[in-house]
Amino acid sequence: MQTPRVAWIGLGVMGSPMAENLIKAGYPVRGHTLEPEKLERLAAAGGTPAASVAEAVRGADVVVTMLPADPQVEAVVLGDDGVLAHTAPGTLLIDMSTVAPRTSAALAEAAAGRGVRVLDAPVSGGEAGAVEGVLSIMVGGAREDFDRAGPLFRALGTTVVHCGPHGAGQTVKAANQLVVAVNIQACAEAVVFLEKAGVDLPAALEVLGGGLAGSTVLERKKHNFLARDFAPGFRIDLHHKDMGIVTEAARAVGAAIPLGGVVAGLVAAARAQGDGGLDHSALLRGVERLSGAAT
Ligand code: NAD
Repeated sequence: MQTPRVAWIGLGVMGSPMAENLIKAGYPVRGHTLEPEKLERLAAAGGTPAASVAEAVRGADVVVTMLPADPQVEAVVLGDDGVLAHTAPGTLLIDMSTVAPRTSAALAEAAAGRGVRVLDAPVSGGEAGAVEGVLSIMVGGAREDFDRAGPLFRALGTTVVHCGPHGAGQTVKAANQLVVAVNIQACAEAVVFLEKAGVDLPAALEVLGGGLAGSTVLERKKHNFLARDFAPGFRIDLHHKDMGIVTEAARAVGAAIPLGGVVAGLVAAARAQGDGGLDHSALLRGVERLSGAAT
């Protein structure tokens, strides 16, 4: 079978390295994004830059979107000059952005009218996971479309799971973001507590990491906490969006997530204090402010 031609829309922190991993795996990739320097990066990696969504998706077998949030995904897919306006029936659209489950279901319904197949396939693992090609990918949609996309997913991630119908991948991602935010907040509180208590912080984090308190979050964010390096990574603005998604989705099914509500408020406060552009490990700065410590 011929290698599918891929159109990639959204070459940001995640999209650039993911598209590059597809190129390394032998896929022809034509990409579009808003920043010219990201298009140059794609060309340098062996991809083909496109000046518009229409130019990127024409003739593609698979279209991948990796965009910030629901409004951008809806505009790029459903817009007058968007993906659905320029793709042939039988094309597979894989939205890897994190959006609300109901947005994924609505996209799939709109696309079905044009014979375009859709998967929601949000990811976890951060920028490092994207670069290393070791993302967790949670997929919603038809099983046969999941099977068709299998080789492509395996070029991007190591844990790839079909979770159910349209929107199920996003529901799992919302749960993921709840766990990550609560975990970061707990780690940040531990860091401020340990520092105020005068304990050797690198030593403390090393031993915490080896016990039940250890987590991928602690492992991946330890450096950010220690160095106060909050360059994104995953921006607080995006996690704010995701806490909105999980809060709404949990409410819709009658699930109480009290800790999620508290941490959603702390993420919103960090953003209101001007930290929205920082990595989500900067929740530490919020704990410092509450504790009267230097930020
Ligand atoms: P980003 O802001 O770095 O990149 C988004 C890209 O989309 C930008 O390059 C921008 O130019 C492009 N874009 C926006 N509107 C566009 C349009 N109309 N047409 C074409 N391109 C457009 O975001 P990111 O960090 O790469 O995150 C992308 C998605 O992945 C988000 O939904 C985020 O929640 C999710 N995510 C991010 C991470 C992370 O660690 N950064 C991890 C897991 C999931």
